Amino acid sequence: MHPKPTRGRKADIRARMRRTGESYSVAARRLAEQDERQHQGRAAAPPAGAHGHAGPDLSGLAASPFAAGEPVDIERASALIAACRAGCPSCQAELVPATVGDRRLVAVLAGTVYAPLPTPGMIAAPATRMWHALLSELGPQAAAAFLTDEMAEADVAALLEDALDHWAVGGAGVPEIITLDLDDPHAWEAR
Ligand SMILES: [Zn+2]
Repeated sequence: MHPKPTRGRKADIRARMRRTGESYSVAARRLAEQDERQHQGRAAAPPAGAHGHAGPDLSGLAASPFAAGEPVDIERASALIAACRAGCPSCQAELVPATVGDRRLVAVLAGTVYAPLPTPGMIAAPATRMWHALLSELGPQAAAAFLTDEMAEADVAALLEDALDHWAVGGAGVPEIITLDLDDPHAWEAR
């Protein structure tokens, strides 16, 4: 487990050299050992759901207009967002595809992010732009119905990925986003 040092890695090594006075190769080895220990600690943690990332309380999502009265897997949503915030590859590898298969949940996660935004953002995927335009024009119910019934799977995946980028950085934003009044069909127009 000694991958080629990346740019960020080299900066870490140099920082350690400055801190400790170690040579480059020693500092690099110590950092690698440190990683190894952390990795082992992670591997020793209980598997699956118990493998820990504290998730946000997303119970407010159950009432989302994007759920259209259907049950929403709040626990999966919370676990997924926690995994994204933690940058945990193994949890994301498990939870992202499972969520793509749960289109109702994708609608809720994407709608919560994009309904308040006047534009989907510069780097949004074409599928995200298209869905955002649909949402702006027709509202949450129609946008959710399109996502659950009509959208190509690759587009659903792209939309989820974009939405998760927002969720991953939205630590402070989550409670605000959830309490927005999305029942007002013109709520996003004023923004
Ligand atoms: Zn994880």
